[in-house]
Amino acid sequence: MFYFSSVSVNLVLSHIKIVLMETSHPGNIGAVARAMKNMAMSNLRLVSPKIFPSADATSRASGANDILSKAEIYDSLSDAIADCQIVLGASARDRTISWPELTARECAEKYAGLEGALTTKVAIVFGRENSGLKNHELDLCHYLLRIPCNSDYSSLNLAAAVQVVSYELFIATGQREESTIGDKDADPLASQKQMDLFYQHLQQTIADIGFLHADKTQSVMRRLRRIFNRIELDTKELDILRGIFRYSQNHNKK
Ligand code: SAH
Repeated sequence: MFYFSSVSVNLVLSHIKIVLMETSHPGNIGAVARAMKNMAMSNLRLVSPKIFPSADATSRASGANDILSKAEIYDSLSDAIADCQIVLGASARDRTISWPELTARECAEKYAGLEGALTTKVAIVFGRENSGLKNHELDLCHYLLRIPCNSDYSSLNLAAAVQVVSYELFIATGQREESTIGDKDADPLASQKQMDLFYQHLQQTIADIGFLHADKTQSVMRRLRRIFNRIELDTKELDILRGIFRYSQNHNKK
């Protein structure tokens, strides 16, 4: 028999938030709550759900109502992930611009397994039933998370997708030893809110020094975001870079 005590696994996975974007069918929200509770996860965030709360959600949750009643509701994705340091966007679709990708298993190993930094707050964002996640929402993500499956039929039902990802996270927790938790000397990773301010400052700086042409802003900023998302800045590094921006802006004025 393979199972974990709910107390330890709950604690271990409490750094991971499941975020659902504008879900249309409340039944899916209930099924997600159930999928999460089976895998000892409990942090559910809903961005502008179409209908919630709802009897359909409660009935599909079937005993996981505690997760529904604790679910936090937000008006925007950026608010829902503001306190998170790593954001993954789950998507079945191929994109015209390539994002760094992790499979569900790689994500679990990185953020819940042996190598996982348990102090890192992670958001895993799932898209709408009919249209998934938009590119500007993936711009907020460090990685695209993919569940490997039949390439001719790759879109899972929302709750099924959450089930697979939660399962991988749950299994990954079983491989960890307490002694590997965190690097106590390291500065914490920057939160999404701090990164947001960082990007605003970066954009302003390259505009001030005349590097950025208005018609190129979106594509240049998207590529810069990809670079900085790839390296996962901590707060100290972010302070240094913002210091350089300030210096460049002042120098340019002179
Ligand atoms: N029709 C939508 C897919 C909706 S499925 C589209 O065109 O994108 C609902 C959500 O489940 C997706 O947005 C995604 O977050 C998740 N999902 C479904 N299949 C997935 C897969 N193979 N890998 C990763 N996430 C998946």
